Order: sequence, then structure tokens, then C-alpha cells
Amino acid sequence: MDHSSVDVCIIGAGLSGLSAGRALTAAGRRMVVLDKSRGLGGRAATRRIDGIPVDHGAQFFTARSGAFQKQTEDWLQAGVCFEWSRGFPQAANGRIQPPDSADAHPRFACADGMTALAKSLGQGLDVRREHRVIRVEPDGDEFVLECEGGAIFHAGTVFCSAPMPQTATFAGEVAGVRQEALTASPIESCLAVIAETSGPDPAWRGVQGREGNLAWIGADFSKRRERPARRFIVLHGSAEFSDRHGDGDLDAAARILLHDAAALDPETLSSLTPRHIQRWRFARSAQPLADRAFRRSTTGFYLIGDAFLQGKIESAWTSGQAAAADFLAR
Ligand SMILES: Cc1cc2nc3c(=O)[nH]c(=O)nc-3n(C[C@H](O)[C@H](O)[C@H](O)COP(=O)(O)OP(=O)(O)OC[C@H]3O[C@@H](n4cnc5c(N)ncnc54)[C@H](O)[C@@H]3O)c2cc1C
Repeated sequence: MDHSSVDVCIIGAGLSGLSAGRALTAAGRRMVVLDKSRGLGGRAATRRIDGIPVDHGAQFFTARSGAFQKQTEDWLQAGVCFEWSRGFPQAANGRIQPPDSADAHPRFACADGMTALAKSLGQGLDVRREHRVIRVEPDGDEFVLECEGGAIFHAGTVFCSAPMPQTATFAGEVAGVRQEALTASPIESCLAVIAETSGPDPAWRGVQGREGNLAWIGADFSKRRERPARRFIVLHGSAEFSDRHGDGDLDAAARILLHDAAALDPETLSSLTPRHIQRWRFARSAQPLADRAFRRSTTGFYLIGDAFLQGKIESAWTSGQAAAADFLAR
């Protein structure tokens, strides 16, 4: 049974938690990352079907700040990611419209799937998988964390990247956490459908939906190093569609998304067979707190993650870095 004492306990092995973990470990701090899942990456998630990676959470990422551009450059050099596209066509007025010519910003993806980012950040870190934190309480001038299964960790500081509504359930006794969760903006859900195509390859790599039920259609197979034996298309429902259908019949919801996709591009999207449906209950904050990168309580409990900044991979990574820098400067 684990019963460990560390400087910092990080809840969540997504991009924010691992980014913080790398910075803290590099500075020589004793830290441990706890995640409830079996894999790393959180919402930058990849599922394997017949050994073929398919991204059903985050699809790509951008690098707009200098620090994250440097991190991305390292990933590019190491072959972790590559430039997949520059802008995407838009679905509007029932048609696929050409991309905005002014949007030539690179979009990066990973040939091995988006979890490659987390695997890269997590190398050499003490990450405990299948460690769901169920309770965090102040204990003198430190925190005690309890995991499902009984493992206990003592830490002077906690970084938490779990969604705020969930954080409030296990850390509501920590000063300020319940209040922060109550005032945070709601988190939207997302229905993701992985569908196999037997039709011709589309002319596009991804299509962003600006209206209607679909928020995204991605030709996932176009990210892979070699053309896979089976080709998968990923569909994401819009927040409104996903919230409306998330508690209902997911197969029926998937059929609606497939129908809408086929209407947009009948030539390439009429022969899709759904293979997996995932409901992301906490997909994205409706309105991330753009003015800050993290929140620190007076007692040393940090809220980190993409609920801050812009709600995307770059935000998560930046949040972890900023919180680690704040901690190290104290
Ligand atoms: C469908 C979808 C599509 C997206 N598309 C894009 C995109 O194309 N580009 C982009 O930049 N961003 C995209 N995003 C957003 C991007 O995935 C996130 O911004 C980023 O991955 C968030 O990282 P994070 O570390 O903040 O949170 P997460 O990745 O959610 O990490 C939090 C971690 O905490 C763990 N956890 C939660 N509760 C507990 C607990 N009690 N105990 C232990 N561990 C716990 C979880 O298992 C998870 O691993 C998308 C997200 C979704 C859902």
C-alpha cells in the first residue's frame, strides 16, 4: 500500500499536470502525478482499433506563445508531432466552404496519436496510473490525499487539473476550492464518434463546423505515417448537440451526426460505419478564465488546466508551466 510524502502531488496526467510535473522534477522537487486512468494524456486521448491509433479527444494543436513554440520545436525534432495542416475548411450553410485564407497558422498532430505528447512529457516522471483521488484535506500545514484503493499521499502542495466540478467533490474542504468551482463557467460536453470509411478519401483533412450539429469532422487516417489498413473519420458533436443527446441514446445521436456529415460531403462521407462512441462529459469550459493561467489558494492548493487561458492544449501546457514557476519562486 502506497503511503508517500512528497513536495507536490499533482492530480491528473493530462498536458497541464505533466507539464507542471516536468518543470518541478527538473527543479529537483519530489513530486508524484496521480491519474485515475490507465493511460496518460487525459483529453488528448487516442484509442487503438486493430492497433491503429485514432484521436477521439483533441485533434490537433496550435503553438502561439514563444514558450510553447519552443516545446513544439522540441517535439518536432524528436518526431513526436508534425505539421498536419494550416487552417481547415468550414461547414456553413450546409456546405463545406474553403478555409479562411488569412488563417495560415500551423496545426500540429502526432502520427502515433495525440497521447504521444503526454508520453513525451511523462518520460522519467513518477506517474501513478489507476490512482483516482477521492479525498483531499488540509492536514496541518500540508495536505493528505486519499486514492480509491486506499493509497495515501502527504504533500506540502497540490496541483489539481481535474475538472472543477469534480474537484469540488473531493477537495471541497480545501479553502477556496468550492467557491472557485461554483464561480467557474460551466463545462460543455462533447459526443465523439469514430467511424470507419469505405468511401474515397476526402479532399480535406478536417472540417470545422460553425453551425448545426457537427463541430468537427476529421480524416484521422491522414495523420498516420503510413496509410492504415482501416481508415477512420472522427466526428464531434457541437456542445449544444452533445449536451442535448449526451444522456440519451448515443447510437441514435451517432446516426444523426453521420447523416449530417453525409449531407455535407455525400461523395466521401456516405459510407461511414460507426465503430466507437465516446461521451466527453467534461470536454471544454464554456468560457475559460482567459486572464490567468492558474489559481492558488492561500494554503498552497493550485487549480491548473485548460479551464484557464483558452481551453486548449497550449493552455493546459502553459497553465502547468506557470503554476510550477509560481511554486518554485516562493
Ligand atoms: C472532444 C475534444 C476535442 C478537443 N479538441 C482540441 C483540439 O483540437 N485542440 C486543442 O488544442 N484542444 C482540444 N481539446 C481540448 C484539450 O484536449 C484540452 O485543453 C487539454 O487536453 C486539457 O488538458 P488538461 O491537463 O487541462 O486536462 P485533462 O486532459 O482533462 O487532464 C486531467 C486529468 O485528470 C485526471 N483526473 C480527473 N479526476 C481525477 C481524480 N479524481 N483522480 C486522479 N486523476 C483524475 C483525468 O483522468 C485526466 O487525465 C479538445 C477536448 C475534447 C474533449
